[in-house]
Amino acid sequence: MEKVLEICARIDGMAEAVYAAYARKPESGDLADFWLQLAEEEREHAAAWRWLGRFVDRATMESYIDDYDEALARLEELSSQAKALLARSREGISLSAMFADTCTLELGMLDTALIHLFSLFDLLNPADARKIDYEAHIRHFSQRIRESDLGSGLAPMIDRIFRFWKQNSLLAEQAQRDYLTGLLNRRGFIGRTMPLAALLGRSGGVSGLLMIDIDRFKAVNDTHGHVTGDTVLSRLGATISGHLRISDAAGRFGGEEFTVFLPETGPEGARDAAEKLRKAVESDGEMPVPITVSVGFAWITHGGNAAEEMDRLLKTADENLYAAKRNGRNRTEGSPAG
Ligand code: GH3
Ligand code: MG
Ligand code: MG
Repeated sequence: MEKVLEICARIDGMAEAVYAAYARKPESGDLADFWLQLAEEEREHAAAWRWLGRFVDRATMESYIDDYDEALARLEELSSQAKALLARSREGISLSAMFADTCTLELGMLDTALIHLFSLFDLLNPADARKIDYEAHIRHFSQRIRESDLGSGLAPMIDRIFRFWKQNSLLAEQAQRDYLTGLLNRRGFIGRTMPLAALLGRSGGVSGLLMIDIDRFKAVNDTHGHVTGDTVLSRLGATISGHLRISDAAGRFGGEEFTVFLPETGPEGARDAAEKLRKAVESDGEMPVPITVSVGFAWITHGGNAAEEMDRLLKTADENLYAAKRNGRNRTEGSPAG
């Protein structure tokens, strides 16, 4: 398994054992249920990390984590701490020390390196309950600490760190999005589609990719101005998202160029999606000025290197986009990724 995920699973496994030990302490009194619930949540987290480890390799992880080695070192450190806390939980320990140790474990896992990973759960398995709701987990914990006399001294720090985590999550999300359209930017698109391609590789799945470019967009800007041009881009972004399935990923790749990744979609599906979008744009009554788009598409059977497969999909779709332009615009062209 990829190292970061392996350590996360290990830490959460130790946290589960720590909370289960707290639940058995007489000092816990009526907090026993609370510790048991935390233990159960940790068990689910550990399982979720292991599940993610089936699809995410180091290369994908590096596209999510800015400094991989540093993140690894931080998590290793937390893992050693968790080990020490586990030993302590088996000895006599006061309730306030239990709360303090819980803070160490919980706050350590609010690592910014892990923020992006949470979105992967929704992305890879939208229907499955296998995901980590860290926010609920921490909110639950900080509420209980605030209610307790012993923990009340820790509450302000926990609240502050919780807010910090929320702000960081927002920034991390924004760093992957295009401001104008709300779609993924190039980095966000690649970061999300690579693990999907790796996931599809396990079953030999097929996926399609669309590259969409506005026809004669320069003329729109020249005639109606850039503000109208921007409104056209933002409306096109909404039209594209409105026509996608939940598992599809859409991005704004460059100025007036958009991409859509269609998992588990072969040649016919990709052609249908391309034509559907082309027609929707052509007949969109809410566009500030009428526009058309050309669409190049490609498809591939996964099973090899995910990054290489994405490159080939993008390159072939781009070539087909230029063929669509050459052949008269407001049309779609596709071929298998070569
Ligand atoms: P073609 O049919 O061959 O695609 O013609 P085109 O005019 O659309 O293609 P070209 O690549 O020559 O021009 C793209 C234009 O897109 C150039 C630029 O003015 C415009 N553009 C790129 N980014 C933005 C943006 O963020 N806002 C606005 N308003 N225009 C943009
Ligand atoms: Mg264009
Ligand atoms: Mg262009």
